[in-house]
Amino acid sequence: MSDYLIKAIDKTKNLRLLTVTAKDLVQEAQTRHDTWSASSAVLGRSLVAGVLLAGAELTDKEELTVRLLGNGPVGPTVITAQADLTVKGYVKNPHIALPPREDGHIDVKKAVGQGWLEVTKDLGLKEPYTGQVPIVSGEIAEDVAYYLTKSEQIPSAVGLSVFVNPNNTIGEAGGFMLQALPGASESLITKTIKHIDDLPALSTSFLAGMTPEDLARKILGTDCKILAKEPVAWKCDCSKEKYAEILETLKVEQLQSMIDEDHGAELTCNFCGSKYHYTEAELNAILGKKKEDKEY
Ligand code: ZN
Repeated sequence: MSDYLIKAIDKTKNLRLLTVTAKDLVQEAQTRHDTWSASSAVLGRSLVAGVLLAGAELTDKEELTVRLLGNGPVGPTVITAQADLTVKGYVKNPHIALPPREDGHIDVKKAVGQGWLEVTKDLGLKEPYTGQVPIVSGEIAEDVAYYLTKSEQIPSAVGLSVFVNPNNTIGEAGGFMLQALPGASESLITKTIKHIDDLPALSTSFLAGMTPEDLARKILGTDCKILAKEPVAWKCDCSKEKYAEILETLKVEQLQSMIDEDHGAELTCNFCGSKYHYTEAELNAILGKKKEDKEY
């Protein structure tokens, strides 16, 4: 597997760490949405964050949605990740490229702007749970760490990295999420944060061949324990049937006007760009079903 996530724990079992390499899945997103550099960085970092959050928090059929609602040029970004570590996502404006920062990096902060970071978790309960924090940085990693610390009361450190090649393809993508468990001492946390501060730029390291296992050992120490290695991937679960269900929720008049005026309908999935076409006959069938439902 080329894209995968590692779950690790430190020697004292008080620090939990997830590390991931995700170049292929971010490349899939880049290709599907034809994103330019700033949009790729925002979408890619958000996808990596989604996979890390899913790896840390979800089981069975659970899913979570991350909404990065900034007022920057890239516009709102939406990611949905599943417990099986598949993820999908989109940005409102895929064609954003900005002048680089002085250090040569993509200006992600400017691309995101100010606003809110929202995380909704569907854990199979009656109501999904939503936590919201202001965007404090715009670099996304710091924002996710702030969300975890503030909204979920889990002291966390997060690193996210996407390298965009000059031809807009993805050179590398990956990241980490460190969580302090209740037993973690101040000195252990301080020591580990120092390891993170001392890391060379993540993108440079990933480009040089660093693996998620290497990254885990750099952060937690060589005596850490790797608990799991799981594949991660891009996946959109849309289908013609799913979108037909959405059509069924429209008002009778709306469906009727699609039939009378447009003689069909075409829906595009925001997440993956797939197009689903419905003929007049198919719309009539949906309308018929709707009227039937009304009568009973
Ligand atoms: Zn889709």
